[in-house]
Amino acid sequence: MTVRCYLGLGSNQADPQGQLSQALDRLAGTPGLHNLRCSRFYGSKAVGPGEQADYVNAVASVDTLLSPLALLDTLQQIENLHGRVRDVRWGPRTLDLDLLLYGEQTINTARLVVPHPRLAQRAFVLVPLAELAPDLTLPDGTCLSGLLDYASAEDLWLLQ
Ligand code: AMP
Repeated sequence: MTVRCYLGLGSNQADPQGQLSQALDRLAGTPGLHNLRCSRFYGSKAVGPGEQADYVNAVASVDTLLSPLALLDTLQQIENLHGRVRDVRWGPRTLDLDLLLYGEQTINTARLVVPHPRLAQRAFVLVPLAELAPDLTLPDGTCLSGLLDYASAEDLWLLQ
């Protein structure tokens, strides 16, 4: 039985939309991942201190037989492939891939926390997630639609 998983994608460097498109191509070409679907791309203001370029964010769903840690390995391998800006040695990371949800499972280990700890507060995750799965319920019973009512989407805009 495959498990339906949701992945968060983000980038704010080196052609962010291109980074996401390439990451999606890599995910689609990964053995063991099936039925890849992706939300539209959104722009968002960077969270946290300091001046940072705006982000491009999306959420993808995928069905898999991979274990949660094997899926995390896959995501981190793809992140590493995007890890350098061309010609800049040890350049900044250009792609962030998060495992948001792994079926109905709750996971709390040193390497992996699922649902992703900040999923519930982030409009740039909740809004694209709702495109793919408007009726989604989190493992603790929280309805995505209820979280969306409280999410502030003022720093979020649709790109395509
Ligand atoms: P970040 O640089 O913020 O993407 O954090 C990456 C680190 O978060 C890695 O060391 C992962 O092992 C850890 N991590 C814990 N839970 C998750 C998750 N649900 N998705 C992605 N990375 C996770």
